[in-house]
Amino acid sequence: MAETPSTCPYCGVGCGVIIQSEGSQITGVRGDPLHPANHGRLCTKGSTLHLTAAPALAQQTRLLQPLLRAGRGQAPQPTDWDTALDLAATRMANTVQQHGPDAVAIYASGQLLTEDYYVFNKLAKGLLGTNNLDTNSRLCMSSAVAGYKATLGADAPPACYDDLQHARCLFIVGSNAAWAHPILFRRIEDAKAANPQLRIIVADPRRTETAEIADLFLPLQPGTDVQLFHGMLHAMLWEGWLDTDYIARHTSGFDSLKALVREATPERVARDCGLDMQDVLQAARWFALGGEDGSTAQRAPTLSLYCQGLNQSSSGTAKNAALINLHLATGQIGKPGAGPLSLTGQPNAMGGREVGGMANLLSGHRDLANAQHRAEVAAFWGVPSVPASPGKTAIELFEAAADGQIKALWIACTNPAHSLPDQATVRRALERADWVVLQDAFATTATAAYADLLLPATTWGEKLGTVTNSERRISRVRAAVPAPGQARHDWQIATQIAQRIEARLRPGQPSLFTYDTGNAAAGAERIWNEHRDSTRGRDLDITGLSWPLLESAGPQQWPLPAGAQAGTARLYADGIFPTADGRARFAAQPYRPVAEPRNAGFPLSLNTGRLRDQWHGMSRTGQLGRLFAHQSEPVLNMHPQDMERSRLQPGQLVAVRSRHGQIVLPVQADAGLGLSQVYLPMHWGSEYLSGRNAQGQAVGGVNALTTPAFCPQSKQPELKHAAVSVQAV
Ligand code: SF4
Repeated sequence: MAETPSTCPYCGVGCGVIIQSEGSQITGVRGDPLHPANHGRLCTKGSTLHLTAAPALAQQTRLLQPLLRAGRGQAPQPTDWDTALDLAATRMANTVQQHGPDAVAIYASGQLLTEDYYVFNKLAKGLLGTNNLDTNSRLCMSSAVAGYKATLGADAPPACYDDLQHARCLFIVGSNAAWAHPILFRRIEDAKAANPQLRIIVADPRRTETAEIADLFLPLQPGTDVQLFHGMLHAMLWEGWLDTDYIARHTSGFDSLKALVREATPERVARDCGLDMQDVLQAARWFALGGEDGSTAQRAPTLSLYCQGLNQSSSGTAKNAALINLHLATGQIGKPGAGPLSLTGQPNAMGGREVGGMANLLSGHRDLANAQHRAEVAAFWGVPSVPASPGKTAIELFEAAADGQIKALWIACTNPAHSLPDQATVRRALERADWVVLQDAFATTATAAYADLLLPATTWGEKLGTVTNSERRISRVRAAVPAPGQARHDWQIATQIAQRIEARLRPGQPSLFTYDTGNAAAGAERIWNEHRDSTRGRDLDITGLSWPLLESAGPQQWPLPAGAQAGTARLYADGIFPTADGRARFAAQPYRPVAEPRNAGFPLSLNTGRLRDQWHGMSRTGQLGRLFAHQSEPVLNMHPQDMERSRLQPGQLVAVRSRHGQIVLPVQADAGLGLSQVYLPMHWGSEYLSGRNAQGQAVGGVNALTTPAFCPQSKQPELKHAAVSVQAV
């Protein structure tokens, strides 16, 4: 039996795994005791990875050869790789030549490896000449990115997992870490066991399993987070709990924020958020003083952990910024146990941002809107320019395809016909586009039904490269078994199509994509080295890192510039921030309620989220019966009093209607929800949940209900709130 160290492909905790294999079969998995993210532990999903790679399951679900449809609605037929690659390149190049570069778009995934992301980004912005490259990371972390940049000056989480051991107060907000980041939650439990004095505050509209560990639970009304944070700051100001010295020496813009929160009195905030005023004051005290009840002289460290409850919101950037404001105002940053730490949803959403793999970003944390940054990237790639016009972000991209502006769609490693909100528009986009290419490991996704061309890609256990987890830690991903069937690595497919596009769009010029597609290890390392060189002098500088160093020293946290001996555990210890004047900026962003308020027609707030043992659209976890033991079918959770008022019985079928569509499923009682709130797991799509859109057409799945409204700064959609009604059918 061979053992290959790699990384779990599910969540942003980024646990190390040891893959056990015999020949071409993955036979087992165990936690990597040497990996600093998990020290050998795995959750239910991670510990069953090998079972989801079983050949019998793979035969039923994997895409193992290129397939081509003669026409929409027809069964796809096998084709060979050369034909498939030629066709993909020809259709993309023709669309660029006939309709301009912005008529094509690439929609990729936070589950791609950094090397895959790098090639896609260069292909779109350096070769095709469009910034229409976005990913499902837009649904995951873009509000965290915008929040960090608005306040701290860079997309860089300042804290790390080890800070859990040093913190004396944990502020967990908009995160059910017990289910979504289970191994991190084990570390929270360890910290509490080691230090019973650790104060844990959990703020969430639902009383989740995470809330069970809380010393103080704040069941705030959906979407009122900014008002809560402003109220906490108001109280800190009034009570003298701020770190005025830190504010004076290391920040700017406090006066504007002070004026903004003047009206956020504890009474008003308690009313708006549906909380007890004393609880708001207690949260403010513990946050400011690090769990202490005394004075600022005893101030101890406070660490915030937060996730989609803040990010998936029409005011996601304001929520992130308002929370970071609290850290800056109390000096709770840049020291052990203190700081804001966003929990990444997907395994490599951060690696994708590092290489600029989104519509508004460029390589090495450069900004598309910055002319100097565009010039730097163009010079680095050896192209005349990088297009200046902003690319379409996820929601905009599919709306543009539905409107006929985007004519060719290239989708990689994701399932937008399940995961994007407002599925009616997404389905229209996929139907209207002239050309849809899907490269994926799985043939059974909802999106596969719309693809003209399907290209088989490798997945966990077969791929190699790197990923970056929530604490900026870069880990190696290694292949334990060869690619099955005719599957190829995502970067190989992108490179081979890019080389063919070059022959049409820039004939006779040296290739921009000289990565060795015949040698996966050498090719991937070469791409990573190119990415590494693009970070020189940037906040995430990793010019001191190499694959041999990752091999010998293990996973490393960026930055790790040339000459450094090891990675950097936490940022901003010196109080100097990557802004023009070196000061962090307070962001005075007002509280705005949810985009779709409840009314008489839609009197309930719908929240969507993750179950403990499932992952996204279940293309992998849905293959394994034991992962349904925790919850076997989609059900609508509803407060028992709301059920009683509507005369609903547990298990009864109900129609859930929003302004966008309707689905039918059973209802169950959940006293952990607030009144007038309902909850749906995000995992079941149209294959399981039939439904209709507002025009009566057949569109199912959870996201038949959700709103396309997004944060104006981060463009992240409000998957955490839609106004709905529930009636018996
Ligand atoms: Fe994988 Fe996340 Fe579970 Fe770790 S916590 S084993 S990364 S799913």
